[in-house]
Amino acid sequence: MPGSYKTEAVVLRSIRYGEADRVLHLYTAARGRIGAIAKGSRRPRSRFGGRLEPFFRLDLVLHEGRGDLATVTAAHTVAAHSNLREDGPGLNAAARACDAMLRLLDSAEPNPAAYNLLSRYLTLLDGDEAGASEEDHARAVDGAAGLATALAFRLKLALAAGFAPELSSCARCGDADGLTAFSGSAGGVVCGACERDGFEISPATHRFLLDAMGSPLARAPIAGAAELRQAERAITTTLEHHAQVHLRAAA
Ligand SMILES: [Zn+2]
Repeated sequence: MPGSYKTEAVVLRSIRYGEADRVLHLYTAARGRIGAIAKGSRRPRSRFGGRLEPFFRLDLVLHEGRGDLATVTAAHTVAAHSNLREDGPGLNAAARACDAMLRLLDSAEPNPAAYNLLSRYLTLLDGDEAGASEEDHARAVDGAAGLATALAFRLKLALAAGFAPELSSCARCGDADGLTAFSGSAGGVVCGACERDGFEISPATHRFLLDAMGSPLARAPIAGAAELRQAERAITTTLEHHAQVHLRAAA
């Protein structure tokens, strides 16, 4: 159905194309993951300015023709996230988040939970939380680019994509007690009797996974390095087995 439509979108990747164009990988609110071309956007006086770069959140008008790529006909900035660009850890975390979106969400179907999650994470990394006090602000900037928040983002992204691990009872037998291991192939925590293809996790790791899933992204739980390593392995192996996706290391 050719025609134009408006949508908000986050630029996940921006690739130079031809003489003066860019090809964008976008995560849109209206259509999920799409590709688009911005013609002439690398010319010095392009009407798009510098806003077709990764991590920009934009209001777009897109034209769908017969090809695979939509054409960007208008772009206005919703959030440039300029603080994030000047911060090494924040930039790194944002790049990994966009990479995870590219790998995990490849369908042109709207997924508001995934779109809102990415927008929220970029806002946190930018340290521009509306209404936050100075103190909250400092804490958010400090913690947002850390591994705990990166893992909370991945866990929530897995949930939005339909691949959340089972965390409340054994993923093989349903037993609610003695959950001492995690199995990527079973897709969640497992009990001592079912742990044959899993790896041991500590109660603190299990608690971290539950709290990270249940808390707002801005209040990701704190955990030690060993717990965070186990949690990352749990998320990574679940996505490998169930989404056939291998994510880059979270930090
Ligand atoms: Zn079991």
